[in-house]
Amino acid sequence: MIQDKVVIITGASSGIGEATARLLARRGARVVLGARREAQLQHVTQEITQAGGQATYRVTDVTRPEDNAALVDLAKTAFGGLDVVFLNAGIMPTAPLSALNTAEWQQAVDINVMGVLHGIAAALPTFTAQQRGQVIATSSVAGLKSYPGAGVYGGTKWFVRNLMEVLRLESAQEGTNIRTATIYPAAINTELLGGITHGASAQAMGALYRQYGISPDRIAQVVAFAIDQPEDTNVTEFTVGPTPQP
Ligand code: NDP
Repeated sequence: MIQDKVVIITGASSGIGEATARLLARRGARVVLGARREAQLQHVTQEITQAGGQATYRVTDVTRPEDNAALVDLAKTAFGGLDVVFLNAGIMPTAPLSALNTAEWQQAVDINVMGVLHGIAAALPTFTAQQRGQVIATSSVAGLKSYPGAGVYGGTKWFVRNLMEVLRLESAQEGTNIRTATIYPAAINTELLGGITHGASAQAMGALYRQYGISPDRIAQVVAFAIDQPEDTNVTEFTVGPTPQP
């Protein structure tokens, strides 16, 4: 059931996170939004509350453990608990390895890998203590299959896949009833391509997304489906993309 669940969403200032926050709030969840851009967070939060939903936000850099912990604290003080974390913040600086964009490699690891780990570290003690909770993470089709240009980005998303599966297995072993779901989106029209600095990669991805891209609302629907399942039911993985995309 979604109604009344307290859901933290990272990367909620645009794209998939924003669409998910709006949908879950419409379905009765109480949403806690995190990202770095305050103006966007404020705007989304305001629109949700004006429409009768319940939302709050905190400026959050997922690379900082203390920011992730503060989001969990906010969920508890604003809404009295925590039921779900949707670890979705990410960047996609695709480029061939030969471009040696080493600063971007570091940034992708910091945000897409360490950001997810910090999110888990912040939520897990609460979930373990209450013997209930749900962790949902956004991987990518680049976390299932290798693509030229996605050596580092794809690697961060393979990491997420492994991490989530291990979390599921360990929770089952430890009897903590933590549900996990990993989402593998293909081409979804968001601001993500804006972070590609390598010219040829940006052009190729732009063409791909112009041809195939679909709305982030489609991912929001899948996240809602995962949350909506009965507590004894875990839907583990979803690959979601445009029907004609190869
Ligand atoms: P957007 O660029 O629209 O959203 C990315 C979000 O991540 C923004 O809200 C951004 O907010 C946030 N973010 C980035 N860095 C940080 C940080 N250090 N701390 C906190 N928040 C951060 O793109 P999407 O919605 O598409 O991306 C969401 C997820 O989906 C990503 O993990 C991406 O890899 C994944 N994905 C997307 C696909 C697509 O086709 N769009 C395909 C496969 C996976 P801010 O800048 O305000 O901090």
